[in-house]
Amino acid sequence: MCLSRVSGDTVQDPLTQQMMYLVGVQHTQLLSGERWFSGPVFMSEPEVEWPQAEFGELPEDDLEVKNEKAIFTLTALGKSHELLVRYSSWTVLQKKVAWLLTFKAYPQHRRDNNVDDSVEYLTTEDLERATSAIVKLVQNEVYQEEIGDLNKRGNVRSSSGIVKLRPVLLNGILRVGSRISEAPIALEAKFSMIVPPKHHETQLLIQAFHQKLAHAGQDHILAQLREQFWIPKGRSAVRKVVQSCLTCKKQRAVRMEQMVATLAAFRITACEPCFTYTGVDYFSPVNVKRGRSVVKRWGAIFTCFNSRAVHLEVATSLETDCFIDFFRRFINRRGLPRCIYSDNYSNFVGAEREITTAIEDWNQKQIQEEPLQKGCQ
Ligand SMILES: [Zn+2]
Repeated sequence: MCLSRVSGDTVQDPLTQQMMYLVGVQHTQLLSGERWFSGPVFMSEPEVEWPQAEFGELPEDDLEVKNEKAIFTLTALGKSHELLVRYSSWTVLQKKVAWLLTFKAYPQHRRDNNVDDSVEYLTTEDLERATSAIVKLVQNEVYQEEIGDLNKRGNVRSSSGIVKLRPVLLNGILRVGSRISEAPIALEAKFSMIVPPKHHETQLLIQAFHQKLAHAGQDHILAQLREQFWIPKGRSAVRKVVQSCLTCKKQRAVRMEQMVATLAAFRITACEPCFTYTGVDYFSPVNVKRGRSVVKRWGAIFTCFNSRAVHLEVATSLETDCFIDFFRRFINRRGLPRCIYSDNYSNFVGAEREITTAIEDWNQKQIQEEPLQKGCQ
């Protein structure tokens, strides 16, 4: 695309005149303007013969000139970053760094003491030193500008995200400036190490505390963390870790509930006498004192499926005749049921051997025939 400027008197220029028609001239005159539709005459000529543009130089302070500033940011991630993102457990990383520091300090130790004793175990001091080293690496990645400002000017810029913490540099580590610096408590508690909230190591640190505190809630984790570390927007960072914990998800899961089946027709049939549809079952034997002896008695329960009314009978035994006896008593008292249901005594199968043996002795045919003779299914 080529940009050209049409030279000439702006008032006499036909294109300008056509634009003026738009304001107040009749449309017939506008339509008769050939240049409006076909453009300037030179556009019909070859492009090399078109008039050259004469824009001239624009002054830099012209208000129409848009000032653009190019900002280039270069982030160099070295070997330390590879080390920090290599592990997915704070404890493992802490131990690795502790061994690295021990290995680094070993030649000096050997020269000073002139002994060749090798280190076999890590101590608590080694792990604490490793923690400080990890935090230092993380801070050098994230708070590079703030550390530079503190080294040069003694304070951070007001635009910094941690300016409200009034950070100070102690042994190369960025810590929260504290009002309780004179308090007789540990240095870590007075000047907590500042840890960026979105860094990989911070996630690992919160996870480690979460597991160490037996999957505690966010407030407890935050309180324990703040004895040593300060995470800006820490509550949100801790909440994210707690919500993503699989163990906590399982513990907080809503228990499943069984779907309730549709009620059978006889359960919801209205305007029928009570015990029209009845279920019958035995319940466990109870010891009953009879004279000087103790005998077993079973309970027989009749339940109306419609009204949930209950009728109880005492069974002296599990014999067939006994069932017929209390069934007759039930009919005489409550009326003849239209349909009677039982579980075929299958619930007794796994019960006591005495009951199972007695059930097998029952004359099932006789039990079924007795109700049938009275017109009951
Ligand atoms: Zn958890």
